[in-house]
Amino acid sequence: MAKNKQILVLPGDGIGPEIVAEARKVLDKVNDAFSLGLSFVEGHLGGSAIDVHGVPLADETLNIARDSAAILLGAVGGPKWDDLDHSVRPERGLLQIRSELKLFANLRPAVLYPQLADASTLKPEVVSGLDILIVRELTGGIYFGTPRGIRENENGEREGFNTYSYSESEIERIGRIAFEMASKRDKRLCSVDKANVLEATILWREVMDLIAPDYPEVELSHMYVDNAAMQLVREPKQFDVVVTGNMFGDILSDAAAMLTGSIGMLPSASLAKDGSGMYEPCHGSAPDIAGQGSANPFATILSAAMMLRYTLNVPEAADAIEASVGRVLDQGLRTPDIYSEGCTKAATSELGDAVVEELVSAMASG
Ligand code: NAD
Repeated sequence: MAKNKQILVLPGDGIGPEIVAEARKVLDKVNDAFSLGLSFVEGHLGGSAIDVHGVPLADETLNIARDSAAILLGAVGGPKWDDLDHSVRPERGLLQIRSELKLFANLRPAVLYPQLADASTLKPEVVSGLDILIVRELTGGIYFGTPRGIRENENGEREGFNTYSYSESEIERIGRIAFEMASKRDKRLCSVDKANVLEATILWREVMDLIAPDYPEVELSHMYVDNAAMQLVREPKQFDVVVTGNMFGDILSDAAAMLTGSIGMLPSASLAKDGSGMYEPCHGSAPDIAGQGSANPFATILSAAMMLRYTLNVPEAADAIEASVGRVLDQGLRTPDIYSEGCTKAATSELGDAVVEELVSAMASG
């Protein structure tokens, strides 16, 4: 169990507050049941922070984040803030907090719950038993590289430009996380790059090959990102752990999300070197369904479980939450994104309540 047990809760925008409220119910229950001694502080990030503090990430919020063991985040962004200058948009707050806290390792498990085989747009035989872990580099690559901007070129025309760069040490530290994760799973690691075109990823491939001998139990393979996108939907079960850069990981993990039936099922962890981390669903703030009580809270609840596993080192509490989510799916309760015929439609808060009830009955039966 980590020494510092303060959790900063950042509900964010859109459906963020609705889904985070359900994860809090579940965390409160395991906090009691496992006597974890967690304490919670709430803050603002993204659009809600712009409304309250005038900036997407206030210094005071960042300071609380630095003093916390972990952060639980809903999602940020929405049409209300879309016309703001790029430099002060809600998403800048998210990129800033990831970079300030050096949350370089983004873990995105894509696991298909057997109860949801019908909710995937792919054939059940293609996705059943799916269990992939995407390890995405989060604080480097083209999303952070400089120079960047929009300038006038020699023809007097505007041109947008970004920089895709990775240093050896950045590649090595994410590579080692991925090898370690693979060594605890099925021991297969696929590194995804575009080494046939981009120099930055030629180096990426070289560094992965260089560190591979330190993990002789793990079988390393390489794949170009365009092929990886195709293979993910053709034969996703060929993958165990996938490691890739920031932009490719962003795109591939959304594709992997759909394999599991809904992006509303996908949790994530973003870890710093010391094990502290930020935990959030892979999806955005879903403004199209905000306020309707129809958002799927499972990705956020499962993110809270990842927090207990990776930062707070209480895997038994994480296991209890994940098992309870499975039993709620067994009951047939579904938000619209994962609904299929014969199931029962349930609201966001009903799913959170059902997970808490399952936790309570699991505790009662010992
Ligand atoms: P989105 O992930 O918010 O929504 C995509 C689709 O998935 C929508 O149809 C939405 O209704 C659905 N969806 C997402 N989460 C769901 C859930 N829990 N339950 C049921 N359905 C769900 O992506 P978008 O529409 O491209 O972006 C909306 C806003 O979110 C934008 O402002 C974007 O910048 C922001 N965004 C934030 C994050 C983040 O906070 N990490 C990530 C992606 C997008």
